[in-house]
Amino acid sequence: MELIDIIHKSLPQIQCGRCDTPGCYQYANDIANGAPHDRCVPGGAKTLDKLNVILDKSIDNVDIQFGPTIQEQKVKIIEDDCIGCKKCIGACPVDAIVGATNLMHSVIDDICTGCELCIEPCPVDCIEIVELSSLEAKSPRDNSQYYFDLKESLKTTAKRKKLANNSPENLNISDEINLKIANRKIDKSAALNKMQSNIVKEDLIKLHEFNPNDVSNFIKDKNDS
Ligand code: SF4
Ligand code: SF4
Ligand code: SF4
Repeated sequence: MELIDIIHKSLPQIQCGRCDTPGCYQYANDIANGAPHDRCVPGGAKTLDKLNVILDKSIDNVDIQFGPTIQEQKVKIIEDDCIGCKKCIGACPVDAIVGATNLMHSVIDDICTGCELCIEPCPVDCIEIVELSSLEAKSPRDNSQYYFDLKESLKTTAKRKKLANNSPENLNISDEINLKIANRKIDKSAALNKMQSNIVKEDLIKLHEFNPNDVSNFIKDKNDS
């Protein structure tokens, strides 16, 4: 196993970014490349001891300049107060929040690491911390790197799509399509009439088992009269 993976395994997997990196794997990478290993305050003495052994160093305390610690916890949204602004969704490093614009949002319990990153952006202060046992907090944190990577890859895919959408070829094609749409002359009343006739025709044939030719002639006569 590579040094970076050994270091990564000893970090608490909260993905909170308090070590001044986007997440635990990035911090493991930084440590493997010589960054100080005392910046994971949520991991506390336990994580620091493991890192001291791995790196054969002896730092006594975590550097509390990197923020307060994080307990075993998750968060929940007070759904009656949520205004659906989506700010929490963007802040969550592991995509543990679901919801649509202007509608209620919810936290997926099995994914939330309790990193607290969604709390500050909420304009109506409707995200609460819920304490957990070590066992309850373990599973989301064990899986957090997977969801972190997934979110990052989706961001990249979306970015790629955006780039493709804005390419000169695509812009030319959409200009052409828009021009054609603008030049189209649709008689809405005739189109509506045709749609209604087809619905009536289908109903008469299916429900009343009328002869299709008779129905067509009947509708034609009605339209002509
Ligand atoms: S738990 Fe937070 S502070 Fe610790 S390594 Fe992971 S992202 Fe950094
Ligand atoms: S829901 Fe909030 S606390 Fe939970 S992982 Fe996402 S940002 Fe962190
Ligand atoms: S930030 Fe707060 S108000 Fe906005 S969607 Fe999230 S929970 Fe709801």
